[in-house]
Amino acid sequence: MDWHFRSRSHQCNECEAAFEDEQPYHTILFRGMESLERRDICPGCWTKNHKAEPGKLGGYISHWQGVYEVPPPPPPEAIQKDNAETLLKKMIEQNDPEHTEACFILAVMLERKRVIKNKDQVRQPDGKRMLIYEHTKNGDVFTILDPALKLTDLGQVQAKVAELLEHGLNPQTDTLPEEETGEGEAESGSAESDAESQPEVAAAADQA
Ligand SMILES: [Zn+2]
Repeated sequence: MDWHFRSRSHQCNECEAAFEDEQPYHTILFRGMESLERRDICPGCWTKNHKAEPGKLGGYISHWQGVYEVPPPPPPEAIQKDNAETLLKKMIEQNDPEHTEACFILAVMLERKRVIKNKDQVRQPDGKRMLIYEHTKNGDVFTILDPALKLTDLGQVQAKVAELLEHGLNPQTDTLPEEETGEGEAESGSAESDAESQPEVAAAADQA
């Protein structure tokens, strides 16, 4: 299922009233045309439009309540290497099936550190388990496919995660120094003037 991050809205997605700091709100996830969709709803709209039709009747597959917090100003542009959190976000955005297992391990790590919280799990049509996580601070919601890891595979995946944390997701190969074709020729044109100036320098050195 093609699904990336769904950030927490700063306003009610139904009446468009802006959320205030510390105000409670409801989040529902439902299956849209192509992917899961998220809707954040103020208590008034929740009572009016959804409360009477829970779960399947209301068309949504997951629901929870949260408390809106005014987000802190964004941190200065990060230039340090990836940590578990940024690495997981990048891998989810890439949506590469090859990273399913690593994503799962990172999610487990971050859940232990209480950076993210498991909100729900949904059984996919193919029988696989999809875990729904919410970032405890900024309210981002994202899904992780449970790869149903075997204990025997765990060590290998953990080693891969450690390597990703050490070297980053797409380690940039050191760029080779640019070949100095052309430049050398251009410099040779000015060699004469260099040669002329040198005796003066030498003379100055002699005088000193
Ligand atoms: Zn509303």
